Amino acid sequence: MEVFSPYQKNITKKIGKTFEISHWKDWKWQIKHRIRDIDTFEKISGIHFETQKRTKIEETISEFPMSITPYYLSLIDKDNYENDPIFIQSFPSPSELVVHKCEMTDPLAEDKDSPVPYLMHRYPDRVLLHVSNVCSMYCRHCTRKRKVGEVDSIPDKEVLQKGIDYIRQTKQIRDVLLSGGDPLMLSNDYLEWILSEIRAIPHVEIIRIGSRVPAVLPYRITKELISMLKKFHPLWLNTHFNHPREITASSKEALRLLADAGIPLGNQSVLLAGVNDCPKIIRKLCHKLVQNRVRPYYLYQCDLSRGLSHFRTPVGKGIEIIESMIGHTSGLAVPTYVIDSPGGGGKIPIMPNYLISWSTNKVVLRNYEGVITTYKEPDSYEPIFCDRNCDDCDLQLNLEEGIERASIGIEKLLSDANRTIALVPEDNERYSRRNQ
Ligand SMILES: *Cc1c(COP(=O)(O)O)cnc(C)c1O
Ligand code: SF4
Repeated sequence: MEVFSPYQKNITKKIGKTFEISHWKDWKWQIKHRIRDIDTFEKISGIHFETQKRTKIEETISEFPMSITPYYLSLIDKDNYENDPIFIQSFPSPSELVVHKCEMTDPLAEDKDSPVPYLMHRYPDRVLLHVSNVCSMYCRHCTRKRKVGEVDSIPDKEVLQKGIDYIRQTKQIRDVLLSGGDPLMLSNDYLEWILSEIRAIPHVEIIRIGSRVPAVLPYRITKELISMLKKFHPLWLNTHFNHPREITASSKEALRLLADAGIPLGNQSVLLAGVNDCPKIIRKLCHKLVQNRVRPYYLYQCDLSRGLSHFRTPVGKGIEIIESMIGHTSGLAVPTYVIDSPGGGGKIPIMPNYLISWSTNKVVLRNYEGVITTYKEPDSYEPIFCDRNCDDCDLQLNLEEGIERASIGIEKLLSDANRTIALVPEDNERYSRRNQ
């Protein structure tokens, strides 16, 4: 069933003189008619700004450009646009120009973990490949603000080939994430080339695509795209919905096509002040996602990127939201709340505390209702000494051709086979004194 609102018809008429459903549903038409300046926005939305406000918005746009698809714009409730989550996520706010000391242009130090251009290798067994700098809608809360909108550019084959070669030469990479910008802004042919190059690498087990298209340009999910994507299984797709209002008849259809093609779907939301910083909203969003076969994957704490301060919430808000979900609703509907650590340490999961105390033989826990309970530890547990020599081990672990990897981080402290007793920061003063 397709539902087009009178508003959407009206917008199409304003852009193209007459309403043609085939135009509205043509993703290229949507991209061609992206709203990129205030005049067009006012004309199409029927929302008007006073002169002083306009000047401030103009200033913001010259710093951080605007781009809104007619589809996404059509979801704005123009009678209450100032509080509208769609408006707030897509329309420039002068608050973006307020810069705080703790904000950075590259908070996640993405540039430092990049062995070849457009590729980020931060975790041991997976990499992120930026295949496009282009997005159809520029989210105002984008972490990569500095890149998106700067120039709409797509790295050419020669450049991406370097990233692909790196993956081919680096045997421990078993998971490749295509990110951007938005990978689904590439043509089917170009995306197919990238996917087939990566799929041809034997040690790559899974490929993931991160795309906001199902939320902002659902018509990009065409039958042609789907039949191309299907050839590269196991292929996963993570999308980016932040508010239940983004889930519409059109986006549901896009999600249905993807799920029917056997592509497991996940969702990554960002916790945004004034948009979704409310347990009820996130719950509703997650319920709707699950109904559409999308598993809520991450809920991100807003990054310390420049121009995002007005979107940031205290971490406590995120914990409160997760507290309101775990136990209260299906585990499947609860995302992992994470902070992407400034400086490049990667994502760190944050949870309410359920472990209250413990002794040598008991742990004390509390549940979501506040019931305090105990779990008795086993009286006899014979730990298996593990020297990582699996051939002599009684446990039936058959790694076959598996690649043995060294333990790192906290895992190293827990390991029997490693004698490390502490992890010490490189610049620890006490240690430098000892070395003097
Ligand atoms: C998030 C991220 C990944 C993937 O991490 P998962 O937790 O496996 O989803 C990989 N590389 C980078 C740089 C990332 O930011
Ligand atoms: S889709 Fe992603 S990369 Fe593109 S503007 Fe939005 S948050 Fe940024």
